[in-house]
Amino acid sequence: MPELPEVETIRRGLRKIFLGRVFSEVIVHRPSTLRSDPAQFASKLMGCRVQEIGRRGKHLLFALSGDATLLVHLGMTGQLTVQPPETPLRPHTQVVFRFIRGRLDLRYRDVRRFGYLQLVPTSQVSYLPQIAQLGPEPLSITYEELAGRLQHRRGKIKPVLLSQTAVCGLGNIYTDEVLFAADIHPEQPANTLSPDQLRRLQAALIEILTAAIEAGGSSIDRAYVRVDGSPGTYQQHHAVYGRAHQPCYCCGTPIRRYLLSGRSTYFCPQCQRLP
Ligand SMILES: [Zn+2]
Repeated sequence: MPELPEVETIRRGLRKIFLGRVFSEVIVHRPSTLRSDPAQFASKLMGCRVQEIGRRGKHLLFALSGDATLLVHLGMTGQLTVQPPETPLRPHTQVVFRFIRGRLDLRYRDVRRFGYLQLVPTSQVSYLPQIAQLGPEPLSITYEELAGRLQHRRGKIKPVLLSQTAVCGLGNIYTDEVLFAADIHPEQPANTLSPDQLRRLQAALIEILTAAIEAGGSSIDRAYVRVDGSPGTYQQHHAVYGRAHQPCYCCGTPIRRYLLSGRSTYFCPQCQRLP
């Protein structure tokens, strides 16, 4: 599933192409992918200019003229790619956006259909339940904010990080990578992290997510691609995720994979110990 680095890579790619563009046509091939009335969705977008493309957690936010924001959540397999209009539609393409004097279409495709698009008044975006509940952004969270967000959470640190409410944007891959980089066991209760561990966690969030963005995100089974259709390359740098039974890069101990709260979890039993 696309996590913060993948969504941020897409945001940057789209921004270069579509900032300032005006929608000229919206073709909805699968109406149920919209959390808005399909006819109103298309007519409201027509003539709107893309003023900014932002991100909150794993949500893309197209700020448009006319107090409208187009929210896109990619779910498990959502893809936003840029194609010339004459390129044949791939199966599972759900929405196509065209732009005035634009040589390129923006296409939304989603094989597993967990993603959605929603058009909302810009003034109401921060009140949407899925936005209002988000914790701070991990690339800018302060030590005090992180400590404050975890001090009353008695759950295991990995599910707490996945919850989006302590920090936002993390999914299964980067939670495992960040906890490994911070030498923290995925099952340590969040409220028991020492000041040293919190500092390591904060540093690991910035280090891992920044490196992943620079690599264009992680592409596994090509579920996620950049806006030009190319895969990211950060999967080549994973230290634990997808490396079950292979030696830890730090200590040589085989990486262990098991299920934690129903999610595949990879960690080094030697480097990541419970206190
Ligand atoms: Zn190790």
